[in-house]
Amino acid sequence: MKSGPDAVFLDRDGTIMEDAHFIKSPSQVRLIPGAAAAVKRINDAKVPAIVVTNQSGIARGIFKVEDYESVRRHFESLLEAQGAHIDASYYCPHHPSVAACDCRKPATKMFEDAMRDFGLDPRKVAYVGDRWRDVIASKKLGGRGIMISSHMTTDEDRRKAQGDGIEAAASLKDAVEMLFRSS
Ligand SMILES: [Mg+2]
Repeated sequence: MKSGPDAVFLDRDGTIMEDAHFIKSPSQVRLIPGAAAAVKRINDAKVPAIVVTNQSGIARGIFKVEDYESVRRHFESLLEAQGAHIDASYYCPHHPSVAACDCRKPATKMFEDAMRDFGLDPRKVAYVGDRWRDVIASKKLGGRGIMISSHMTTDEDRRKAQGDGIEAAASLKDAVEMLFRSS
């Protein structure tokens, strides 16, 4: 019997690749050690690995949609070189300092769009990210949230995640191990 989730929503920056704070060029892309193997484990479980990422650098004028796309392609090619793949990516280009939106995490629109696109039951998905806003959808929509640690994770993130009863793990590798550990 299948024990893991039906899909895993993954934050990108600080979760799969190093968060260099507004990544606008493929040359800045560095995979976090162990992350490709973790994504491959999701792939091997035959469930979608779906990236959901806030990219407010676009609204702030730091980079363009084309830059985001070239970073995404390079990021995916680095994963593919290690036998892992991302099934889909959703990004929010907005920032509240420019204009309000309903997609920027912690809002849930990107997750809901993906659930509709993939025909997912919200109670059977999982969320992994290095900020509270990446995983709080687990409490709003259902499913399992695991917050990992990066240098971008704040004390406030940890306090809020703990208060909301969200699980914690050191890395994506550890989070995926928790999700697919056979019971
Ligand atoms: Mg992040």
